[in-house]
Amino acid sequence: MSERIRLAAVTKQYPSKGRSTAPPAIDGVDLSIEAGEIYGLIGRSGAGKSTLLRMINGLEKPTAGRVLVDGVDVHALAPSELRALRHGIGMVFQQFSLWNSRTVFGNIATPLKIAGWKDDAIARRVGELIDFVGLQGKAFARPRQLSGGQKQRVGIARAIAARPSILLSDEATSALDPQTTTGIVDLLRSVNREFGITIVVVTHEMDVVSALADRVSILSEGRVVESGDIHQILARPRHPVTAGLVGSYTGTTLTEREKDALRERFTGRRISVTVDAATAESPLLSRLARENGVDFAIIQGGVARVRSLPYGQLSLALHGDDAAVDRFIAQLGEHTEVIAW
Ligand code: ADP
Repeated sequence: MSERIRLAAVTKQYPSKGRSTAPPAIDGVDLSIEAGEIYGLIGRSGAGKSTLLRMINGLEKPTAGRVLVDGVDVHALAPSELRALRHGIGMVFQQFSLWNSRTVFGNIATPLKIAGWKDDAIARRVGELIDFVGLQGKAFARPRQLSGGQKQRVGIARAIAARPSILLSDEATSALDPQTTTGIVDLLRSVNREFGITIVVVTHEMDVVSALADRVSILSEGRVVESGDIHQILARPRHPVTAGLVGSYTGTTLTEREKDALRERFTGRRISVTVDAATAESPLLSRLARENGVDFAIIQGGVARVRSLPYGQLSLALHGDDAAVDRFIAQLGEHTEVIAW
């Protein structure tokens, strides 16, 4: 695979209002996104995700560092070159940003008109796109006659109309209910698969990023605190911010506060075990318990799958004599991460 987007030591400081200097919105970010992948940028509100995204298509200028698209420095381009670059980058927004006075057809056709396409080519392309996004029969509807999910389908059709090589998605599903979100996530996956478009997805929703992204960076206070493939991030979050996002998504990890509340209820030795293929797909836990004469109660936990690989966490209360429990923990620790609490 080849590199499509690179951010090198990118910093963005918005001009401060008043006397106090705000911390930078983006603070020394390095990132590399391959052609054809779906890359997730996740973090809480205010982490800097939108700012980062808007620097990729030149809507924001970095204060320092470089943003390269296909090896070209976006912010060194002349205005006409920047316009040309933007034709190759589509964008979808949380609030859809459709033209309310134009029909579905008109909304999708507009970027093609601006790009100088001929009328008959536009009509063919828009027809194709209306079918692709599943809006057959809606060509002459106005945005106000459409549901949120349908509006976002128009937004996606418009964004990919001029056959861009990159699609930037800024919280595209955040205004939608869970079922509609699933439909839009599926559509974005087909955009990626069928046209090979590289997609950068900005979201605060872990379920969206885990359903879509191949690789992910976690942003906090303008910095990338952790990056990795989606299974690695969900199975073994390293940074506390990642662990917090993953924990509140899966509901299987325990916070220190929750552990304190559970200590009295569960006597015995308490451990939390990271679930991965070794623990989930072989009878490892039960075998080691049997061989060492250890029993366990399940305090909390769960196992889920992403890209068919298992991940999760199990918190157990172990019972047995001390030496046996020690052996059990040590042997289990050879296969996966075990934290005693
Ligand atoms: P996110 O997308 O993760 O919610 P943003 O990129 O929107 O984060 O914002 C990151 C930080 O930059 C926030 O503190 C926000 O208030 C600030 N910020 C964003 N846009 C502007 C702007 N145009 N002017 C000043 N500050 C901004």
